[in-house]
Amino acid sequence: MKINQFFKKKPYVIAGPCSAENEKQMLNIAHQIKNHTDVFRAGVWKPRTNPNSFEGVGDSALKWLNKVKSETGLRVITEVATARHVEACLKNDIDMLWIGARTTVNPFYVQEIANALKGVDIPVFIKNPIHPEIGLWIGAFERIYNSGLTQLIAIHRGFYNYTNSPFRNDPKWEMPIKLREKIRDLPIICDPSHISGNSSLIEDVSQTALDLNFDGLMIETHNNPSLALSDKNQQILPKKLITILKNLIVKESKLRDEVFKRDLLKHRAKIDLLDEKLIHLLNNRQEIVEIIAKFKDKNKLTIFQVERWFEILKTRKELSSKMDLNPQMIEDIFELIHKYAILTQTKIMR
Ligand code: PEP
Ligand code: MN
Repeated sequence: MKINQFFKKKPYVIAGPCSAENEKQMLNIAHQIKNHTDVFRAGVWKPRTNPNSFEGVGDSALKWLNKVKSETGLRVITEVATARHVEACLKNDIDMLWIGARTTVNPFYVQEIANALKGVDIPVFIKNPIHPEIGLWIGAFERIYNSGLTQLIAIHRGFYNYTNSPFRNDPKWEMPIKLREKIRDLPIICDPSHISGNSSLIEDVSQTALDLNFDGLMIETHNNPSLALSDKNQQILPKKLITILKNLIVKESKLRDEVFKRDLLKHRAKIDLLDEKLIHLLNNRQEIVEIIAKFKDKNKLTIFQVERWFEILKTRKELSSKMDLNPQMIEDIFELIHKYAILTQTKIMR
């Protein structure tokens, strides 16, 4: 894919309410944030999980977005979920579109949107699918790209939580990092609002995103969050948005300070050496696993012995908890080591 990175400024900021509620609300917010944001957002058609929630005012809000555009000079963006939404946006001069998390999961809808966009190269932002399936996310980019659109951007908005968590949607930072490895030049922005679900976490999540070299942020901003018709817990006041943006620290990805660079290189050299040792140790371990496999084969023992596996887990976690290591990390690593040990043994015993 040859992505056209249309914005050069970093962080690129998109802000505005979750939903377009009325013209006054939109203009009020837009005027307060116009000098601090690049794009104004507002949902016109709202994909709600519960059918009794506010589902957006629909097409009439497109005119309000246009008014924001002409009064403030901001570019405007809204969410599309069907071909009809796309057509209405194009007819009403909406500058950019985003595809929501509940749409990215459905290839039929994404294809329908892609077909409706053929020949119109406007910026399209694609949110991650609700569940952590990177294939669906990549597939959505491919569908839109195949329609001739080149200004593509990813929005990381977190993933459905199966367990209790301080986040509304689990950030799973490894997913956007994986996406960047798959689609090299793709800009990625973070939506801390839908990750947090709670206004108090927005600043921390935003800073983490910048530390991870994200290109921008999409932050829900409302003039009266407690009365918002959707997502009221996570929206922040324009004043708060401006403070957060001022506090954020944008770190250089290319370090200017040569001394610091040299120090960093020294530490990296140590890491390289340790990794090399780790690989040698894994090789030694594998040699022993092979010896055990031959022994088990001769003595007609099964490969997997559950008590032994529990003992490995328990002792390794106990040892790690005496150090400054996360026992969960150790459990994850040993699960992998064990998985490959079983594979090695299966190969030998077959
Ligand atoms: C939104 O941005 O308001 C929205 C509905 O987001 P998501 O698709 O991430 O749930
Ligand atoms: Mn929202």
